[in-house]
Amino acid sequence: MILQLSKTITGQEKAQAINTIESIGYQVNEVRTQFGHYLIAVGKKEFDIRKIGHLKGVHDLHRVTDPFKLVSKKWRVHDTDINLGDGVHINRQSFSIIAGPCSIESEAQTAVTIEHLKTNNIRMMRGGVFKPRTSPYAFRGVGLEGLKQFSAQCREAGIKVVTEVMQVSQVAEMHDYVDIFQVGTRNAQNFNLLDELGKTDKAVMLKRGFSGTIEELLQAAEYVFSAGNEKIILCERGIRTFETAYRNTLDLNAVPILKEKSHLPVIVDPSHGVGLRNYIEPMALAATMAGADGIIVEVHNCPEKALSDGQQTLNYSEAQQLYHRLRQTFSLRRSFSIHH
Ligand code: PEP
Ligand code: MN
Repeated sequence: MILQLSKTITGQEKAQAINTIESIGYQVNEVRTQFGHYLIAVGKKEFDIRKIGHLKGVHDLHRVTDPFKLVSKKWRVHDTDINLGDGVHINRQSFSIIAGPCSIESEAQTAVTIEHLKTNNIRMMRGGVFKPRTSPYAFRGVGLEGLKQFSAQCREAGIKVVTEVMQVSQVAEMHDYVDIFQVGTRNAQNFNLLDELGKTDKAVMLKRGFSGTIEELLQAAEYVFSAGNEKIILCERGIRTFETAYRNTLDLNAVPILKEKSHLPVIVDPSHGVGLRNYIEPMALAATMAGADGIIVEVHNCPEKALSDGQQTLNYSEAQQLYHRLRQTFSLRRSFSIHH
């Protein structure tokens, strides 16, 4: 059960509400985000909802039977708009494209990427500076100093920065240079990190764990929301299955299911999802028809020379064709009025 508290609730009224809910046998958690103030009551007992609906300072009351609550569409029926400022949004009305290299490599490489994005009307650039690599001997990123450079170049060009945060201590260090904190698949259940991201005012993009269920992804989002941050984007990036013909199995089933269960925007990462350049476009277009609110894709001026994930990275002409077809596909979907 979610109680939305009014902005003017007094301490006494809140204590009264908590008391009443606890007396029914429910456990109460208080949540305060940048946009609202809530009490989340968890319990199983049947009770007459009128007992609390009339309480002073309670603006609204919703029964949510899902294990995740604040991110559930049973409560908030309208899709969430993530406002990144300067006219950049991630929402249901527009189709977001986030593009850039797997890893940030150099000032010059970022500069050519920005030119490519500007030419194609793209306002969000991806690029890891702290890279989670399976091998300790692989390139691990340019680090915080590299992020400062990357961020300065993007700010100058009016482009938003999307980059992965790997641990709690990096959240504060990276804060000023980031617009969207990406949580990688390997950190999908790093609850300390999720809690910490709940305390920031920046948007958070949660990638699905490669062996995580859809419900686990939504529970991860619930961590961030309940710790205080409502600006969350969900990302399907493929799961591990028995198949070996490609890197991961991009689970497009997750897209309509997430859209039905949650009010949060859902974007798809076909690059990691399939892991092979030739299949990025068909899977990105399929994701769009499945109802994704956007795509995050790896691009590089010379994928063969990319410091990581070159095999799944598009060159600029391949990327340009993809953007064009994504936009056409999105218009087609809109004309069908497919909402999920
Ligand atoms: C990435 O986006 O470069 C990345 C490492 O993604 P994932 O966590 O999905 O593997
Ligand atoms: Mn990558």
